[in-house]
Amino acid sequence: MDRRGFLGATARLAALAALGQLGACTQSQPFKFDRDPFTLGVASGDPLPDGVVLWTRLAPDPLTGGGMGTVPVDVEWLVARDEPMKDVVRSGTAAAAPDLAHSVHVEVAGLEPDRVYWYRFRAGGAESPVGRTRTAPAAGTVPDALRFAFASCQNYTQGYYTAHANLAREDLDAVLFLGDYIYEGTARGDIVRDYSKRGWSFTLADYRDRYAQYKTDRDLQAAHASFPWIVTWDDHEVENNYAGGIAREDPRNKAALAERAAGYQAFYEHMPVRTPRPQGPDLKLYRSLSYGGLATFFVLDTRQYRSPEVALCREPDQTPSGYCPASIDPARTMLGADQRGWLLNGLRDSASSWNFVAQSVRFAQQDSSPENGKHIFDGVDNWMGYVADRQMILDRFPTTKNPVVLSGDSHVNFVYDLKRDFGDPTSPIVGTELLGTSISSEGDPFVEQTQFTPPAKNPQLRFFDNHRGYVRCTLEPARLTADFRAVSTVRKSTATVSTTATFVVDDGRPGARRA
Ligand code: FE
Ligand code: CA
Repeated sequence: MDRRGFLGATARLAALAALGQLGACTQSQPFKFDRDPFTLGVASGDPLPDGVVLWTRLAPDPLTGGGMGTVPVDVEWLVARDEPMKDVVRSGTAAAAPDLAHSVHVEVAGLEPDRVYWYRFRAGGAESPVGRTRTAPAAGTVPDALRFAFASCQNYTQGYYTAHANLAREDLDAVLFLGDYIYEGTARGDIVRDYSKRGWSFTLADYRDRYAQYKTDRDLQAAHASFPWIVTWDDHEVENNYAGGIAREDPRNKAALAERAAGYQAFYEHMPVRTPRPQGPDLKLYRSLSYGGLATFFVLDTRQYRSPEVALCREPDQTPSGYCPASIDPARTMLGADQRGWLLNGLRDSASSWNFVAQSVRFAQQDSSPENGKHIFDGVDNWMGYVADRQMILDRFPTTKNPVVLSGDSHVNFVYDLKRDFGDPTSPIVGTELLGTSISSEGDPFVEQTQFTPPAKNPQLRFFDNHRGYVRCTLEPARLTADFRAVSTVRKSTATVSTTATFVVDDGRPGARRA
């Protein structure tokens, strides 16, 4: 911290202490927190070749509002080339402001590409834990390998974060988190641990306390402190299965939009994202990140712009297509026109060897009819409810280099071949979908894993697995290797991890093969 920043922070903290707003020690200068303000850990995210976003939030009283009062506080940040933080290469001061729950998002620049760095924060005499992060390779270079994992769905009440504890021990360049970071509701199902504040989340204060509950978990903090994260959201960051929320002419909708604004703001306040801050119920979250010429990740927002969810039609097996009529209505959209255009142009123009579409919900078609019944495609909350947008993307894949869709939401693992036309058995495979299971949502598998045999109705489905965990990927120019990592339990706070299956996608050959 430079001298001016230090004096500014000291003066502001002293003023706060005088107001009695921090519950802090007031008898001496310089000001000191009397409780640790770094209870929510540290995080980094959205790596570029020359920088990352560093995140923390001051919250000495994390589960009831944070305990920081209403005055901004300066936070010093440091980035070093070594873990003991001796060789500091960048530093500065960021204001933690009450209108963003005393969170900071520092967009560090001027770092070297493809390099590990360590970082920490200081405020009011307190020091944060040290986090580790990594910049992306320079544009135009092709790294030998990129190691990343993707995960989703971490219902706090349904299990311990043994998956995060094991994830933090992996050797990774980045983690993608594909939604359901929090669950907005009350504890449900088999409750392993409960929330301190049990109600549903509706207001900004509710969502802040819910994020804080999640982020006090030490295993989640370890996973953040070990790697930069690239995050998007799904439904539970606001409300179960919400869709857009935009029927602006409907007066009852005002409450839904206010709730969305609160959920989006709390999401922004707690995530290491390189996005503008939210404006009311709007937050532009979709973006792309590249790792040299090897990989581009197109990170989607499948919630904010989608058409209203169709009611599950009563008898989809009696419609000619097997889909609910609204699901195949070409006027309905999952992405909205702007995001869809951005994605389709990005896939067309990408110079990367591998192109990942990282998003929250199942993309492939899956027939849920009984063995002898007529087709039923009833996934109204996933891409089966938004067939027109899915088809536009599938139609773009034949001219996209190595397209791979990464998904979450299902709380089990799936691998799919993506067909240009799912309804035609002779249609070519144009891409691959890897769908990752939950970190903790729905708890330990309640049935024994049985050897999965693809049913005749779903030849595109290559793999199913019912464990909790995450997917670890190694990307090389010639192949993508995906290890499905499963933890032994989420009912206890420690667990082992093992690989239940490994799938490989070869360069130029869409579709996954079991290794
Ligand atoms: Fe979920
Ligand atoms: Ca979900």
